[in-house]
Amino acid sequence: MAHGPFDEVTGGRGDAEQSVLVIGGGLAGIVAAARLAESGWRVTLLEARRSLGGRAFSFIDRESERELDNGQHVFVGACRNLTEFLERIGARGLWHLQPRLNVDIYDRAGHGGKLYGVGGPAPVHLLAAFITYRHLGLGDKVRAVRGVIAAMRADRSTPDMETTSFYDWLRAHGQSERCIYNLWNVIIEGTLNDNIQDVSAAMGLMITQDGLLKGRREINIGYPKAPLAQALGTPSKVHLHNLGVRTLLGCPVRAIEADASGSVQYVEAGNHQVFAADAYVSAVPFWILPGLIPEDLAGKEPFSSLTGLQSSPIVNVHLEYDRPVMDREFCYFLDNPLQWVFNDSLIRSSNQSHVGQSLTVSISAAWDQIDLPRPDLMKSIAAEMRAAFPKARDAQLLKSTVVKQRNATFRCTPGAQRFRPGPVTASPNLFLAGEWTDTGWPSTMEGAIISGYNAAAEVVSRFGSAADTGEKNSVRPMV
Ligand SMILES: Cc1cc2nc3c(=O)[nH]c(=O)nc-3n(C[C@H](O)[C@H](O)[C@H](O)COP(=O)(O)OP(=O)(O)OC[C@H]3O[C@@H](n4cnc5c(N)ncnc54)[C@H](O)[C@@H]3O)c2cc1C
Repeated sequence: MAHGPFDEVTGGRGDAEQSVLVIGGGLAGIVAAARLAESGWRVTLLEARRSLGGRAFSFIDRESERELDNGQHVFVGACRNLTEFLERIGARGLWHLQPRLNVDIYDRAGHGGKLYGVGGPAPVHLLAAFITYRHLGLGDKVRAVRGVIAAMRADRSTPDMETTSFYDWLRAHGQSERCIYNLWNVIIEGTLNDNIQDVSAAMGLMITQDGLLKGRREINIGYPKAPLAQALGTPSKVHLHNLGVRTLLGCPVRAIEADASGSVQYVEAGNHQVFAADAYVSAVPFWILPGLIPEDLAGKEPFSSLTGLQSSPIVNVHLEYDRPVMDREFCYFLDNPLQWVFNDSLIRSSNQSHVGQSLTVSISAAWDQIDLPRPDLMKSIAAEMRAAFPKARDAQLLKSTVVKQRNATFRCTPGAQRFRPGPVTASPNLFLAGEWTDTGWPSTMEGAIISGYNAAAEVVSRFGSAADTGEKNSVRPMV
């Protein structure tokens, strides 16, 4: 193994017989590396950036001098692998999960409604939340209950569910426009980062069945109480170090070289450093991988299908006011570009703003905002804030930062599922991880973790566990 001008986190586990190289230090790569190290492999992880965490990261904003997330990250109780992983890396205490669902939702006229989880077994908890929801009239409440029952009974694995949009499925099951936009879209827009007309019925039903209907706890919303580098990246780095993983940061892979049979021989990283191993796990985004592999391999499945995947943007606007303007942890705005507003001053355990209040506006499916010049975007967001929060009308906006993430998540459009490969490739020793692989989940931290487990399981299944546990199941995700 080569040495280079990288931030090397550990000397690694030099004694294990079999070696694996993991490319990409987002959640998928971190989990794959950790699982393989636990299975006795000698693991090296190469990450292009100077920090771990991938698309879930924070940075010091020069303008505001605050540590800001690239985007507000939220999870739900159904994310069992994420919760377990956070426990494992000692970071669970840095993430809050509501004891029961509690979301305030406002319409354009300023009327408030609430999605509130009540007691009782599933699906009673959800039906009750829908029935008490004030942004639906009586007729729409009845329709919503019928929609929930239809969703419970639906078989989302049939081929037509993958090619139909969730919007069309909801319409076909008696849901009115008001039901769809005041209720279903509140859940879908953020979780799938897309317009409800553009997501598959299969994925919409997955969110409903596994996220909303499985149990009372699954629907509860959680968020990090610290910036993502502290809540995820740094604890992951320490965890990998403790497992003996050699982590090289600031080490972008330029090429994955294979022989005529497609077997990977080595990878070339920045500064022409060469790394060789028995097995390789790619955990880079789908739009980067084809540029790293040899042309003839890129022409074969599953790599050739990756051009079918698309991504959708998220824009976050961080605001600092001279006084409190919002009293809740977070809330959602119907039919409003603000969408979700999070009260950082309240939900962050180390309140960074000593005076005033720090808020984050999180805009999913942000096609209308992603190309707007920042000053224009800021102006319109500030105006929407004044309209939505009466206290913002007198408050002074001290600082603001726009963070645009064009390729935030992959899209679950109708038919996109066929482009999501499993961990196995045309190469005998190259395996795939990444939230965009076939995990059953949308583009989420949970999906990334499952993909890391799937890739590690496949490596162990193909080559055997270096510690010879032979326990394929020990590296499987929880489902
Ligand atoms: C703004 C935003 C908000 C989000 N909100 C949520 C949310 O609320 N809830 C949720 O669950 N998910 C959310 N997500 C999605 C979630 O962050 C991702 O699904 C998840 O982090 C993807 O993890 P990954 O490891 O599969 O990929 P990535 O995180 O993209 O990791 C890939 C890694 O590979 C590295 N890399 C790339 N090229 C190379 C190379 N050539 N050599 C070496 N390394 C390389 C990258 O630097 C990166 O670290 C959000 C994402 C964004 C951007």
